Amino acid sequence: MTDVNSKINLLDLDRTGMVEFFTGLGEKRFRAEQVMKWIYHRHVDNFEEMTDLGKALRAKLMDQAEVRPPKTMFDKPSLDGTQKWLLGMDTGNAVETVFIPDKGRGTLCVSSQVGCGLNCQFCSTATQGFNRNLSTAEIIGQVWVAAKALGNQVHQQRKLTNVVMMGMGEPLLNFDNVVRAMSIMRDDLGFGLANKRVTLSTAGLVPMIDKLSIESDVSLAVSLHAANDELRTELVPLNKKYPLAELMDACIRYAERKPRTSITFEYTMMKGVNDTPALARQLVKWVHALHAKAQRNDIAKINLIPFNPFPGTRFERSTEEDIRGFQKILLDNDVLTMVRRTRGDDIDAACGQLKGQVMDKTRRQSEFKAKLEAQGISDAA
Ligand code: SAH
Repeated sequence: MTDVNSKINLLDLDRTGMVEFFTGLGEKRFRAEQVMKWIYHRHVDNFEEMTDLGKALRAKLMDQAEVRPPKTMFDKPSLDGTQKWLLGMDTGNAVETVFIPDKGRGTLCVSSQVGCGLNCQFCSTATQGFNRNLSTAEIIGQVWVAAKALGNQVHQQRKLTNVVMMGMGEPLLNFDNVVRAMSIMRDDLGFGLANKRVTLSTAGLVPMIDKLSIESDVSLAVSLHAANDELRTELVPLNKKYPLAELMDACIRYAERKPRTSITFEYTMMKGVNDTPALARQLVKWVHALHAKAQRNDIAKINLIPFNPFPGTRFERSTEEDIRGFQKILLDNDVLTMVRRTRGDDIDAACGQLKGQVMDKTRRQSEFKAKLEAQGISDAA
C-alpha cells in the first residue's frame, strides 16, 4: 500500500492495467501476457528469473516495478488439513487467509479489509475494529502466497480450485480493489478460476450488490442470520440501513441479471437466538416470496453454519439436533439447505474466528477489552 520506493507493484494490476503498463514503457502488449504467466502460473516474483524477457527489459522492470506479495508472518496447518496464514500488510496490520481442502476441491478464504467496521455481533473480526481497505495487491497477494506454498498448478491438478471472499472484512465496502482482484483470480493469465468458483460474501450492502451484478460475474453469498428485521438488526447492525425486504429485492435483481446462478444465504446457527422452528418457518416465507417474485424456484441455497465460538462471545453454537430440525423444516418446504461442516477450528481458522492484527482506528478494541475485563476475562483479544 504505502510504496516507500514508489515502484509499481505489478500485483495491483489486472490484465488491462498490465497492458497499459507495458505499452507505457514503450513495450509490446504481449509482454503483459508473459509477465502475468510468470507471476501467476509459475509463482515467480523476481524479474531475474523471467528468462524470456530481454536483459534490457528486465533491467527496466527492476528499476520501475516489483512483484511484492504480503509477508508470511506465520503459517499453521490444522489436523484436518486446513491451513492458515497470517500475512503482514504493513507495520502493525496483518490479515488471515485460510485454505480448506475437501474431496477434490480446495477453497481459499480471502480477506478484503484489515478488520471490519460492520460490527456483526457474533463475528470475532468485529471485536478488533477496523483499520483500512486492502489494496488489490494485498488481496490477490493472499491467493499468490497460498498458491505458491501449496505448489498449485494452474492448468492441471489444481490444488486451489475455489476462492471465497469470506475472510476478514466486508468486500463490498472495498469494491474496486476486490473486483479487480477477483478478475485476476478468474483471468486465464491469472489463476484461471471459473466464475462460479469465485464467491463474494456480503453482509447485505444493497446498492453495492446491484453494482456488483453489473460490473462483475462471480457467485454471490449473502449473510442472512435472521428471518425478521428485529433480530437481524440486532445481529447485523447494517440491517437497519438495508432491511430484509430491500435486501431480498436486491437479490431478485441480481438473479434477474444472472439467470443461471443461485445465491447462497449464510445463516450462522446460534443456540436459542436464531435457531427456533418459528424462525425456520419465517425463513421459508422469505425464500418462497423471493422465488415467486423472481419467477424462478432455484435461486436460494441456504447454508447453515454452526456458530464458531471465540473468547468473550456471548453466543453459543446450536445443538446438532436443533440444526437438523431447522434444516428439516426448510427441506420439507422445498428450500435447498446444507449444513456447513466446521473445519480448522483447532487452529481458530473457522468462519468468524479470523482475527489477524488490526491497528484499530475505531477504538473498538479498547472498548471490547474493557467489556471483557468487566466480565472478569482479562487476557483475551
Ligand atoms: N463481511 C462478509 C464476509 C465475512 S464473514 C459477510 O458478512 O458476509 C464470512 C461468513 O462467516 C459470514 O456469513 C459471517 O456472517 C460468518 N460468520 C461470522 N462470524 C461467525 C462465527 N463466529 N461463526 C460462524 N460463522 C460466522
